[in-house]
Amino acid sequence: MNEKATVLVVDDSATNIQVLAGILKNDYLVKVANSGQRCLDILTAGPLPDLLLLDIDMPDMDGYEVCRRVKADSDMSKIPIIFVTGMDSDDNEEYGLTLGAVDYITKPIRPAIVQARVKTQVMLKKQSDKLTFLAFHDQLTSVYNRYFMLEVAGQKVARTLRDGHSLSLLLLDIDHFKQVNDQHGHLVGDQVLVAMAQKLMEFNRKDDLVARFGGEEFIVLLDFCDKDSAVKKAEILRQAIEDLMPAGLKVTVSIGIAELRSGKESFNDMLKRADSALYQAKEQGRNRVVVAID
Ligand SMILES: [Mg+2]
Repeated sequence: MNEKATVLVVDDSATNIQVLAGILKNDYLVKVANSGQRCLDILTAGPLPDLLLLDIDMPDMDGYEVCRRVKADSDMSKIPIIFVTGMDSDDNEEYGLTLGAVDYITKPIRPAIVQARVKTQVMLKKQSDKLTFLAFHDQLTSVYNRYFMLEVAGQKVARTLRDGHSLSLLLLDIDHFKQVNDQHGHLVGDQVLVAMAQKLMEFNRKDDLVARFGGEEFIVLLDFCDKDSAVKKAEILRQAIEDLMPAGLKVTVSIGIAELRSGKESFNDMLKRADSALYQAKEQGRNRVVVAID
């Protein structure tokens, strides 16, 4: 979080790029693009910058068009844009702001103005990122929270039903967690939850989603993963947690698995089946994996 923020300077004039980059390079990681298209290419390739300083008057694709495209893209749209415009040009400040830009800097460039405006917008962006993170993540373990899981799960289920690939869900519950809290206190209980979440993240693939769903309950949503692969993955996780010894304690988990039924199953139905499977795993003696019936 303390890394330097990244500013992408977009201008068709090499001189302007040099001046702006020179003003910002001590405080920011500065990237440059000499055309609108080059800017979009850089954004598409990622990682996304924290701010765009965007010249309006450029050949081929002007700053307005770049702004329009950035704001139309769900991933890029949150990048704040400051337009850089010539004093004597007829660039329309009001128009730029209606496109979603947050501020304007007029040429000739005055270093103190650039620094102040950029600093303000980067600070707001960082605050907004932090709030977004807090809204979607569990504060103790930093994995996604229940709210985010439910938001994303609906989309994943819809896409899975449309595209016909497979989606599986692991519902993990720490065995006898109440005893951990009762015997060793809540701080130790928290350490167990954190260590457990870290272990789940270690095994995370790009398409997987790990969330803390309740007190000692976690969900791993496995995209492009059928029931058989989910069982293998769950067994590896179960073993890894048995070996983990968080806070010096032997901790185990029971895991219920469900694969989304092709046709018209909802996330809730899949979750209910995983929950029954989890219940069976508990009944059968815990520290085990049980798959829901289709
Ligand atoms: Mg220009």
